[in-house]
Amino acid sequence: MNELPFTIETRLADIFTDALNSLVKKETPQVEARFYPYTGLSSTIRLRQGRIYARVSDILTDAPRDVLYALASILIAKLYRLKPLKEQNQIYRQYILDQAVMDASDASRRERGYKITSPPQGKIYDLNELFDELNSQYFADRIARPVLSWSPRNSRRVLGHHDNIHDAIIISRALDSLKTPRYVVAFVLYHEMLHIKHPQRVVNGRKISHDRNFRDDERRFQHFDTATKWLEQNALPVRRRRQRAVRRTFS
Ligand SMILES: [Zn+2]
Repeated sequence: MNELPFTIETRLADIFTDALNSLVKKETPQVEARFYPYTGLSSTIRLRQGRIYARVSDILTDAPRDVLYALASILIAKLYRLKPLKEQNQIYRQYILDQAVMDASDASRRERGYKITSPPQGKIYDLNELFDELNSQYFADRIARPVLSWSPRNSRRVLGHHDNIHDAIIISRALDSLKTPRYVVAFVLYHEMLHIKHPQRVVNGRKISHDRNFRDDERRFQHFDTATKWLEQNALPVRRRRQRAVRRTFS
């Protein structure tokens, strides 16, 4: 269903107002909220002449309501100097992370028919070596080695992908570069290895790929915070530019 930008931003303002009313008990100002094409993933809020103005990165245009609500709460907490909201931070952060480490079912649908031909030794990084290190450090060497391969193309949209039918982990060739820190490649591979440890389940007809146990394990990665931050700053803006290009094509 197509929504007009007006509708999207009215909805965004409603979400901010809901968050505001639940966090601030006194009379609250009116909110104007807009999606804005920031270069990175940042959002801002300010209070001016009795009105709240919020700008949300347009990377989040398609984000579900609970994610936008979480972000609205985080920004409002900052504006009113409330203490940080742990749960909302987690909801927001996890969504960002999923956008950065796109994988699993969507990816496999899109990339169907790819050929697994390239050796695990890339130009810079060796997936076999990284796999062995991660397997020993986090899995007590219990993960059987899948096929490890760099993707045929420099995909920026899909950074990693576990294919359980072919028992293969494909890592985007775009990451096989000196520009990508080793711990980032390791993190994307680690995420895909977790899909082997925690296979997808179907609950009430919904596929669950990242359950709580998966998330808890994911946070055990030694460089979780720095890797996540790097992906937010380096992997997402490219995707955003692409989205905008697509939108332009159809407008
Ligand atoms: Zn995943």
